[in-house]
Amino acid sequence: MTGAHKKYVSQFSMMGTVITITLFAPNQPIVEALYNYLATMDRVFSMNRPDSELMAINRHAGQHPVAVSPICFDLIQRAVTASQQQATSFNVLMGPVVKLWRIGFGGQTVPEQAAIDQALALTDPNAVVLDAAQHSVYLTHPGMMLDLGAIAKGYFADQMIGQLQAAGIDQAIVNLGGNVKLLGCNPTTPTGQWTVGIQAPKAPRGYPALQVVTTAKTVVTSGIFERYFRIGNRVYHHILDPQTGYPVARPIEQVSILTTNSEYAEILSTVAFFKGVTAGVNYINQLPQVEAIFIDHQQQIHTTAGLQHLSEGVYQYE
Ligand code: ADP
Ligand code: MG
Repeated sequence: MTGAHKKYVSQFSMMGTVITITLFAPNQPIVEALYNYLATMDRVFSMNRPDSELMAINRHAGQHPVAVSPICFDLIQRAVTASQQQATSFNVLMGPVVKLWRIGFGGQTVPEQAAIDQALALTDPNAVVLDAAQHSVYLTHPGMMLDLGAIAKGYFADQMIGQLQAAGIDQAIVNLGGNVKLLGCNPTTPTGQWTVGIQAPKAPRGYPALQVVTTAKTVVTSGIFERYFRIGNRVYHHILDPQTGYPVARPIEQVSILTTNSEYAEILSTVAFFKGVTAGVNYINQLPQVEAIFIDHQQQIHTTAGLQHLSEGVYQYE
């Protein structure tokens, strides 16, 4: 490897996941700036910090509006709007149901139906009052709870790439627990294209993980094998159905979205996950500049029309 091809990889644990920043020239100040940025965002959006802005909104549900920072207000506004549009799949008001199941956080039991019904009654995205002038958010019923777990990392990835660009950096990779966003041309390949590996769930031996060859885009995966528990043969995973209050039952193991904006990709990955292969492929095919790769329970791969199959498990995006 020549000097021009060196990678500088920084990694840290934050927000319950592993964050990796890859640069192609040493730049410790920008790495520290990005670390500090994420630490600040964690203090705003964490569900695990009672003093976060998000938890202040949740704690005062049914009591009064809570004024928050513009960053917090704006992301919540976009997340709630998307939830109103996608009410049967992506819904950031699923907090009470998420809390009930506690999947990935030590919960190992199926909640009582009465408790599920009660929690589901508190997930209406239209029961949120957003005041843009005051930057306030009001959850109008006690027990309502915002959970931005399905969108926040995408927003952070977009912001991190923006900060890298603003710092004059031409090429980089940010990876927030599998949510990947690329910047610029890959300096290690003649074409400047990147290859993004996608972990295939339960891949049989010798079966390659998926790879996407692409220009600088984002790749976001929603899957059920990151956080789940089993009772007997049933898998209870962490993507919960706003219509039933149960982990969504669909003939698919994971879906990866390829597009430019990572926040949008996060929403689409959840929406596509709910749609499954046939409806999901049709849905994504109608969206400009978005592609998707679905893996069903038989480990079969299904892609949208804009992806070119290069070789087994390898797809060309743009
Ligand atoms: P990952 O954490 O694997 O990246 P996702 O982006 O798919 O997963 O988001 C899953 C998280 O979003 C859950 O852990 C939970 O906090 C929250 N969540 C669960 N069900 C939904 C849903 N239907 N809509 C929006 N958020 C959800
Ligand atoms: Mg998501």
